Amino acid sequence: MTSQTLLDYFKERSAAALDLARRFVEMESPTADKNHVDAFGAYVAEEFRALGTEIEVISQTTAGNHLCFNLVPPAAATETGPILILGHLDTVWRFGEITKRPFRIEGGRAYGPGLFDMKMSLALLHMIQQALRDGRLRPRRAIRVLITSDEEEGSLTSRALIEKEAADCHFVLVLEPPLPDYRVKTMRKGVGRFHIAVKGRSAHAGIDHEKGVNAIEELSHQIITLQSLTDYGRGITINVGVVSGGTVPNVVPAEAEAVVDVRVSALTDGEEIAKRIFGLKPAHTGAMLTITGGMNRPPLVRTPAIVHLYEKARDLAQEIGLSLGEGATGGGSDGCFTAALGIPTLDGLGVDGRGAHALDEHIVVADIPYKATLLARLIETL
Ligand SMILES: [Zn+2]
Repeated sequence: MTSQTLLDYFKERSAAALDLARRFVEMESPTADKNHVDAFGAYVAEEFRALGTEIEVISQTTAGNHLCFNLVPPAAATETGPILILGHLDTVWRFGEITKRPFRIEGGRAYGPGLFDMKMSLALLHMIQQALRDGRLRPRRAIRVLITSDEEEGSLTSRALIEKEAADCHFVLVLEPPLPDYRVKTMRKGVGRFHIAVKGRSAHAGIDHEKGVNAIEELSHQIITLQSLTDYGRGITINVGVVSGGTVPNVVPAEAEAVVDVRVSALTDGEEIAKRIFGLKPAHTGAMLTITGGMNRPPLVRTPAIVHLYEKARDLAQEIGLSLGEGATGGGSDGCFTAALGIPTLDGLGVDGRGAHALDEHIVVADIPYKATLLARLIETL
């Protein structure tokens, strides 16, 4: 089918897809809330099962369950090496957010917590499944889909699964939200999280000041050192984002702690920064540092293979008059894991919109059939 015919086909199905996304948004799924994530996951699975796809539910004990299925089974492929499509069930929004900000459509935009990131994308995938079932697409490769439950909190239980599923894949397509102005993400920073706990010695601030070791003072030295590791030129940022310590003003504090966010553009920078953080030494004798954490997502590096993949997508988008740009972001995604394995990964293929993780989160309704067509054409062409 030509891109234009596909676009017309998807235009007719956009309203139904948006309604499916509305139902998805109305079933809230905060990452840490296993019961609700699982209920939502079961609902999503049912929607895909209804069109005849077998869904594997990968049970987790603490995190929500992950979903895995073949949109196009290996037996139906003419080309070896599947395409992996990545999505996630969870959102950053606490349970009850939907009552404060119900789903609504206004001025060509649809609003709702978790719609842009990324419940609309799950509905987009459902459009693709429908098109496949209607015989509208001729994919060459097997299409495997993995929808995880804990992306918004660092993919702690899904990382190994993502890496395993991606291992034999030729390409990975990530349904995360795009950048503004119709740009996919060809570069992402790597992300790390560290926790610095300081142990000092408490003492009466009036009577025994000299006998105390002030944990807050010690932490202050460490904060200055940490912040100074920032190097904008190399795309390295260190943010001491949370600090706490002490009990009351007249006691020398025995404890203080900080939580640190690290972003890097190169894998080796992440390793170097982690080494420096773990190598921090107390400035005061008598103080003790306990450092935990690490880099949890490698950067998505803009390799020639990723540029090539982007250019293919750009050309396909051109066929329906969509000018698809590319860009970089400081935020991580599951695409970081697959790109780090050397598998060409195209991220940010969701529907146009703004405000991921923000109160004005919305999608642009008119973009739905365009992104469905782009995804469909990628599946046919890659
Ligand atoms: Zn996301």
